[in-house]
Amino acid sequence: MSNGQSKKRIAVFGSTGSVGRQALEVIDANPSLFSAEVLTAQNNDELLIAQALHFKPDIVVIGEEKKYEKVKSALASHPIKVFAGEKALEEVASMDSYDIMLAAIVGFAGLRPTLNAIENGKAVALANKETLVVAGDIVMRKALEKRAPIIPVDSEHSAIFQCLVGETRNPIEKIILTASGGPFLGKKPNFLVNVKRDHALQHPNWSMGAKISIDSATLMNKGLEMIEAKWLFNLQPDQIQVVIHPQSIIHSMIQFEDGSLKSQMGMPDMKLPIQYALGFPKRIANKFPRYDFKKPNTLTFEEPDTKTFRNLTLATDALFKGGNLPCILNAANEIAVFAFLRNRIGFLDMTDLVERTMHQVPFIEHPTLEEYFESDGEARNFAASLIKL
Ligand code: NAD
Ligand code: MG
Repeated sequence: MSNGQSKKRIAVFGSTGSVGRQALEVIDANPSLFSAEVLTAQNNDELLIAQALHFKPDIVVIGEEKKYEKVKSALASHPIKVFAGEKALEEVASMDSYDIMLAAIVGFAGLRPTLNAIENGKAVALANKETLVVAGDIVMRKALEKRAPIIPVDSEHSAIFQCLVGETRNPIEKIILTASGGPFLGKKPNFLVNVKRDHALQHPNWSMGAKISIDSATLMNKGLEMIEAKWLFNLQPDQIQVVIHPQSIIHSMIQFEDGSLKSQMGMPDMKLPIQYALGFPKRIANKFPRYDFKKPNTLTFEEPDTKTFRNLTLATDALFKGGNLPCILNAANEIAVFAFLRNRIGFLDMTDLVERTMHQVPFIEHPTLEEYFESDGEARNFAASLIKL
């Protein structure tokens, strides 16, 4: 590693997002451990410029090419390289300016840069779960081949990862992914049919980007996380269980072959798994709020209501069937969430859209990377045609 003996150079892909901004807080609080060397954003030029002026990275990338001149001129008096566009994002991932990529772009758009980082032999702190949902087989195979560590940032997967420390010889019997249940826990279809965007965006425990907030409200997020877990921890589909835990204190659990359950617990604060991934294998002291056992607390668990939240059933189908089905599910869901956020379709329509697209796009058992891209495109087109976006 450069910049001194142990300072890790971080590339924050998606630095203006919820995870990206929290990662920069962690980097800022630990200047002797980390430096931010690459910052990327899709369209928030103002925040990207402010971040660049503060962190003085080697490279910044703005996705929207028409914003290039503005970003370039704002940073002209600094030795910061400025690039724009999708191709640049992919190319920067293949450069040597960094040691760890924090993959915090949202959606399918994160796949190529993340694959390039792996190809480049870099460690990836992975927040962008869609990358594994879409092409988990290819991503994990490449990571093994290139010896590129993939360290989960998603809080549930970080919990499992932390529980696995010291257990290399002990097989997992199953994992239990906890889900808060989102803002509509306990609600039924007659309520959900009228739910609007602003209500769905209000998560009880976590403050997150728009897409994952809607995914949490529909439980698609937990479905995507089941598929993410399968690839990260090399599990069979029937080794993955979901349980509703509304307090979000137990971040997930492993059950070992002797029946022991091991969990990682803590306050629902994404800075914790982000910091763990960047600092791994070392834990870093911080002043984040602590869980207080003196306050009245109850931790509860219940079965998910898959009759109402059918996304979980659709994602379970995709998990078991494999092939390009998770890719199709993901693409249709991205279109559905986009349309819901623009008040074009209702809350329950999102599930119908995903289901119809899963039936429409031809199944491929062992897709190549190109075929994943084709399936993604086909699924998006079909889903969009259903809503005439
Ligand atoms: P966000 O919407 O807040 O931020 C997304 C970031 O990606 C922004 O910087 C944006 O500029 C960039 N981006 C968006 N579209 C892009 C495109 N087409 N090309 C390039 N860059 C693009 O999202 P978030 O909530 O920070 O989530 C990021 C990822 O992390 C998602 O995959 C999400 O599932 C995952 N995740 C988030 C949280 C959370 O607490 N927010 C928790 C666990 C996992
Ligand atoms: Mg999660």
